[in-house]
This record gives sequence, structure tokens and C-alpha cells, in this order.
Amino acid sequence: TAGVVVVGAGMAGVQTAVALRELGHTGPVTVIGAEPHQPYDRPPLSKAVLLGTAEGSAFEVDFEGLGIELRLGLAVTGLRPAVRELDTAAGPVPYDVLVVATGAEPVALPGAEGVPGVHLLRTLDDAERLRPVLARQHDIVVVGAGWIGAEFATAARAAGCAVTVVEAAGRPLAGALPAEVTTPMADWYAEAGAELITDARVASVEPGAVVLSCGRRIAAGAVVVGIGARPATGWLAGSGVGTGPDGSVTADEGLRTDLPGVYAVGDCASFPSTRYGRRLLVHHWDNALQGPRTVAANVIGDLAAAARPEGAPSVPGTAPAVYDPVPYFWSEQFGRFVQYAGDHHGADTLLWRGDPADAAWSVLWLRDGALVAVLAVGRPRDLSQGRRIIQSGGRLDPAAAADPATPLKAA
Ligand code: FAD
Repeated sequence: TAGVVVVGAGMAGVQTAVALRELGHTGPVTVIGAEPHQPYDRPPLSKAVLLGTAEGSAFEVDFEGLGIELRLGLAVTGLRPAVRELDTAAGPVPYDVLVVATGAEPVALPGAEGVPGVHLLRTLDDAERLRPVLARQHDIVVVGAGWIGAEFATAARAAGCAVTVVEAAGRPLAGALPAEVTTPMADWYAEAGAELITDARVASVEPGAVVLSCGRRIAAGAVVVGIGARPATGWLAGSGVGTGPDGSVTADEGLRTDLPGVYAVGDCASFPSTRYGRRLLVHHWDNALQGPRTVAANVIGDLAAAARPEGAPSVPGTAPAVYDPVPYFWSEQFGRFVQYAGDHHGADTLLWRGDPADAAWSVLWLRDGALVAVLAVGRPRDLSQGRRIIQSGGRLDPAAAADPATPLKAA
């Protein structure tokens, strides 16, 4: 049989294949990846790999020992669900079960696509191109003060580059966090010796300079663009698989798509969150680690159900797996360890734990007295305690929770 075919050899794809084996699946499992490299982890690309303190970040997975076939350097260009086939440059690839795990692609700066000296940061090849740029200590302009922009600016300052960060919004992380929380974070740029220019738009990129729409010219030996990422789902056009306006494959709570035998997971897939009452598209590492367990469980369960004679009872303990995580991510920027768990949309109360002028502080969001999200800067214990409380739907006493000397605990 054709078995399970996973498209995308990033964290989500690889973890899906590994989870299938861990859960006892014995049929063929193939992972197809467009990049030529041995599958690797992305977070180090804006950290140790960029600075050259780590050579690479390949996953330590014994693919051969697990009986997982890797087909690398092969892009999938189309899906024909009626015949359960994928199109590739190497010819059609049949599947019985398909897992879409193609991740996300960085958004290019309009007008600067393919301009020499303008870089994105998503792949190992990108990081390897940027390493000598840092080593040569160019003047660097970073476009976008999001997570990637902040991490890249941190690495570039550590390498001794002059760094200017140009942000279209009025503050860093405008898409991710509310203004009162990002105000102290804006100071981190200046503290690290990087200039942050907000409310600024790039009008053009010229050789050696970036020109803003206000007319200001900034010297730029290199430009790094970090203005967001979109699900890499263009190859699914015309296949009939449901996608949302954000380009994500719209999976259900079990990470199944609307096509039979097709699942989606990781940065390319959105899913309905019962916990938060809205559809989530999460572009963080933990989601690409946890989601695959749900996919693997449901692939195995759905195959078993399909093989069951009609009318036979289902096996106890094989209820469909539901994916309803408390999203989590971390970022390492300007010497700080920033962590976030939950989802603060719809929160009615924001509590500070500690002073944002200090090195370590946290923010808690409550809804009807229950903790729904936590942001911790240099306070990993707040994060882990808060995450557990969120997971269990626990409530907090606001006065006690605002005291940073008292451990967080449910009221
Ligand atoms: P991806 O990692 O994007 O993998 C998808 C793979 O599919 C890619 O290798 C791609 O080449 C391949 N592919 C795409 N289309 C096709 C096709 N048509 N055919 C075949 N293959 C295809 N998250 C955090 O929580 N903390 C961090 O500190 C953090 N740091 C990050 C730093 C960087 C520089 C980047 C880029 C991301 C970072 N992230 C971080 C996010 C995290 O890495 C992603 O959420 C995670 O990699 C998502 O995994 P994925 O497998 O869904 O997608």
C-alpha cells in the first residue's frame, strides 16, 4: 500500500511520522520535504545557528531505524484527492493517508523581492547566507519589529553590527501583544544599541540604503525582512481542500481537513479552539510538537475504524483525539527570555507582576476571574505555574497574583 505520506519535513511533519511509530503504526510512512537538508529545527536559526555558535540544528531522529522514508529536495506541486495522488517533479506519488505539514513562508517586502542584499529568515539556507553578513559587521536595517525582527536585531548587535529596525506600526509586536505590554519592550532596542523607528514605511530599497516614505535614508549593507509569514498552501490550489482567508488549511478539532484521509498540522493549519471559542492559527514551535500527536492518534484510529467490519463495536480507548492546546511559545531577545502561554483575546483584566523597568516581570490576563494567558519575561516559573492554571481553567485572586514574591496558584 502507499501508506501515510507526510508533505513537509519540518517539525510538524517529522513529529507526525515519529508519533505514528510511537503509537505503534507499522505501515509505510514517507516524509517528503522541499528542502535538500536533513530535517532540522528552526528556532536556532535566529539564535545560535545565526551567530555561528551552533553548526546546525538537525533533528536527532533515527529515520532509518524507525522505518520512515525521507524524500528530500522534492517539492509537492499538487494534490489530486479523487485518485489519492500528489504531483511532484519526480512524478506522481500515491497516498492512502495524507498529512499536510508544509509550514509557512515569510512574507516578502513589496517591491524588494529578489533585490540583492535583501534577506528573509526562514530556512537554514537563509541563516547561512546571513552568517557572513553579520561577520562582516555591515550596517543592517531590519524591517519589522516582530519576534523574528527582535531576535535578528539581537544577534546582529551581538555580532557588532549597527542595527536600525523599521516598524510600520507604532510599536513592536503590534500584532501579538497589547500596547501597554509592548511599551517597556520598545526600550529594549535602544538599550541594546539598536535604533527602533516606528510608524515608518519603507518606500524603496536602493543599493546601500533603505529609503523611508518620510524621505529619511538609512545606510544598509544588508536588509533583513521579518514582516510575518503565511501558510505555505499555494500548492493545494484547486485540490478542493478548505482553506481560510489567512491561507491556512482549515482543519477540524481532530486536525482532519474536509477531504477524506487528509490531515493538516503545524504552521500551515488552523483549528477550532473550544477553550478559546475561536479558530486559531499558531505559528510557534510547541504547536508543531503537540499537534502531531493528535494527528497520529486520529490517523491510526480512523484507519482502524475503516478496517472494522460493519456493525462491529469500536475498540475501547480509541475515541477520536481532540486538539485543544494552551498555545505556548518563547523568544530570546535582547538578553531576555520571553515566554507566553494561552490566548489573551477576550480577557477583561490585565495584572502586572513586578515592575516592567526591572529585568524580570510578568503579565497575567484574566477573564471572569480565570487565568487565560501569561507573558513572562525572565520569570520561567510564572510561565510554568501559569500554564498549568490556564490548562485547568483555574481562577486567581488578583491581589495575591500581583505580588511577584508569591508563587502563582489557583484560588
Ligand atoms: P516548517 O518548519 O515551516 O516546515 C515546513 C517544511 O515543509 C519546510 O521545510 C518546507 O520547505 C516544506 N515544504 C513547504 N512546502 C512544501 C511543498 N510544497 N512540498 C514539500 N515540502 C514543502 N517558535 C517558537 O515558539 N519559539 C522560537 O523561538 C521560534 N523561533 C523561530 C525562529 C525562526 C528563524 C523561525 C523561522 C521560526 C521560529 N519559530 C519559533 C517558529 C517555529 O519554528 C515554527 O512554528 C515551526 O517551525 C513550524 O513547524 P512546521 O513543521 O509546521 O513548519
